[in-house]
Amino acid sequence: MNRTFNFNAGPAAIPLSVLERAQKELVNFQNTGMSIMELSHRSKEYERVHNHAKSLLTELLAIPDTHEILFLQGGASLQFTMIPMNFLVNQKTAHFVLSGSWSEKALAEAKLFGKTNVLASSKSNNYSHIPQIASFEDGQDDGAYMHITSNNTIYGTQWHEYPDSSIPLIADMSSDILSKPLNIEKFSLIYAGAQKNLGPSGVTVVIVKKELLATTSSNIPTLLNYETHIKNNSLYHTPPTFSIYMLSLVLEWAVEQGGLNIIQQNNEEKANLIYSAIDESDGFYTPHAEKNSRSLMNITYTLPDEELTKKFLQQSAEQHFVGLAGHRSIGGCRASTYNAVPLEACEALAKFMTAFRKQN
Ligand code: PMP
Repeated sequence: MNRTFNFNAGPAAIPLSVLERAQKELVNFQNTGMSIMELSHRSKEYERVHNHAKSLLTELLAIPDTHEILFLQGGASLQFTMIPMNFLVNQKTAHFVLSGSWSEKALAEAKLFGKTNVLASSKSNNYSHIPQIASFEDGQDDGAYMHITSNNTIYGTQWHEYPDSSIPLIADMSSDILSKPLNIEKFSLIYAGAQKNLGPSGVTVVIVKKELLATTSSNIPTLLNYETHIKNNSLYHTPPTFSIYMLSLVLEWAVEQGGLNIIQQNNEEKANLIYSAIDESDGFYTPHAEKNSRSLMNITYTLPDEELTKKFLQQSAEQHFVGLAGHRSIGGCRASTYNAVPLEACEALAKFMTAFRKQN
């Protein structure tokens, strides 16, 4: 079988066993005589898949009763809009920590709805670290919420300890949800497009504290109102049934791995292999992220010049490594080592990087 070493940033690797199971069930799902894609979203078979995905997420992330899980569409990008549309009300201010382009985009959307404030930013350092929040308490009790991006897919930085916040904390976890255990209680809302750690694109997972809904605006279009989806178990309209089915298989796989503590250990082992190849390269590979902000999901680095970068990408492609070019906005290289990227792929990449350095 010709499976590549897939280091794509998203859509990204999906566990092979999940793909094989989906293939096996594709034309006749649970003896229904049709695929999951052809079933009514009101059928008991689909409803079971939908609720199974919710209960697996609840189990894996230890989601308390105070929070509700939603399966929405529109990607993480629509959450940039829905969050301020629902919660930036009563002349309050939305506070942002800017740690990369995705937080900038979230901020730009919030500006359309109300007052915003940048609490901290690492833009002047080309987003090479997670910025420190200087003094959150001062005069910020008018805050509607504080927004962070837990993992910066493009720059390769990650929050390792979440900030304390006296106002609701909201996090874009698109590129590191399910990569480690979480204290959900700390967050009023978490959102993530599925296409990195959760499965294929098409579904966005939102975990929202019910209490936060008491603060919502009243004039919201039906489909953009969180209440609509909460009241209808994310079945107000047709959900992306195939994506949610795939999500349920990925979640089953995560349980089989032994849960999020084990997944975190695996992720640390994988990322360390590649960071070691960088750190032991005598400056041939330069990491973009500062050490204490390094991401376990997206490893970003540059080579001495454009020529070598091109050669590196070309030779890596010949050896079946895919997705190693850095994001077009920062260039260089990036290896995305999400949950489903196997240890062997990371071992092979570290080996390739070391051999390439020695030859060049
Ligand atoms: N936030 C982060 C951290 C991301 O990495 C991405 C996508 N790469 C997005 C938001 C946008 O997600 P989507 O394409 O699902 O709208």
